[in-house]
Amino acid sequence: MTSQGLKLDKYSIGTGDRFAHQAKAQLQACVQALNSGIDVVPVWNKSNREHTIIGSEPASVREAADDAVRALGWKLPYFCDADHITLSTVERFLPPCDFYTIDVAEFIGQPAATTEVDRFVDRHQEFLGRIQLSGVDEAFEITPENLRQTAQKFLVAIKKAGEVYRRIENARGPGNFIPEVSMDETDRAQSPTELLIILAAIADEGIPVQTIAPKFSGRFNKGVDYVGDTVQFEREMALDVAAIAHAVRQYGLPQNLKLSIHSGSDKFSIYPAIHATMQKFNAGVHLKTAGTTWIEELIGLAEAGGDGLALAKEIYSEAFAHRDELCAPYSTVIDIDPARLPSPNEVQGWSSGQYTSALRHVKGAAAYNSSLRQLLHVAFKVAAKMGNRFQELLESNEAVIAKNVTENLYDRHIVPVFLGRQ
Ligand SMILES: [Zn+2]
Repeated sequence: MTSQGLKLDKYSIGTGDRFAHQAKAQLQACVQALNSGIDVVPVWNKSNREHTIIGSEPASVREAADDAVRALGWKLPYFCDADHITLSTVERFLPPCDFYTIDVAEFIGQPAATTEVDRFVDRHQEFLGRIQLSGVDEAFEITPENLRQTAQKFLVAIKKAGEVYRRIENARGPGNFIPEVSMDETDRAQSPTELLIILAAIADEGIPVQTIAPKFSGRFNKGVDYVGDTVQFEREMALDVAAIAHAVRQYGLPQNLKLSIHSGSDKFSIYPAIHATMQKFNAGVHLKTAGTTWIEELIGLAEAGGDGLALAKEIYSEAFAHRDELCAPYSTVIDIDPARLPSPNEVQGWSSGQYTSALRHVKGAAAYNSSLRQLLHVAFKVAAKMGNRFQELLESNEAVIAKNVTENLYDRHIVPVFLGRQ
């Protein structure tokens, strides 16, 4: 494995900022964490899909992050993440980013050549038989058949990750970026033994991976809570963390390798499990949230009343009218119940309080409407189209928006996940 330059800290939070206006307010949440005694390093993430929908360039994320860091005098590391990139989309992220989420999900299941599989199986006879991971009770049995099947299923994807990794390494130089491998945007969760075998393949491929994003069972819809069995999630996460520790020792992967949980934001019901598992294994986590900062912008505008509230209502009307088109790119990660979407007419009559309490995700709040929230979450294109009209209101209402952005990130995400308080 090549020597490590840039190193991701134990605790980090990925945060999205669609319109590049809230980096300071987001960083303020990390400042608050620091004041509470915990280092949580910010990573600004924005995918190619979001840049394309908005018409922005990756350099704008870097600029906003650098400005925020300067303004708040942030002394700890921070990163800009080229989120879910592939060989075909990585180029424009090469100059401004120093964190790369290499997405290989589309290659999972493409059968590897028999010679490749043979070579892998020969090289990794250590998997055969009983494997006991430290810190967990159950042991695993891997048969030659399991090993072959897993290699067959994942080796092509890992080779692709290697190609993307080397493209980035050529451009930026070794050690000048954090590599993540993500496999979350696929239909089936990987088992802990699959993860172990995948990590061995990643080590063989020479990728000094610092974060790995498997798919967990349950649904991780954008901007809303986890849907699934939280006990099962905790068990899965513990096994994955144990598998990572095992792979670090066995295959010489970076010591700081940790799970990246692509949460899609707001997975409140599994935050206690994430915290408890980190404690139990003395492990870190990269908690990637989605671009829910954009929702906080809407909440701030609505809370401001006047023109802000009027614009927030107009955005809802447009989103409602174009809901099929807006939802299409996100169809696998949202679950909107059309019957629960209020009519634009009804929303026209709402007060600031009615709008914000329907949209703001506070667990157990009666007025909270997850269908409305998911629709508005994917409706940032509507605001992007408004251009200056939207941007100017963001600026004239900066204070109320920033308060919502910081509070949301700190109180609802950092506090339960990293400080372990509800
Ligand atoms: Zn993801």
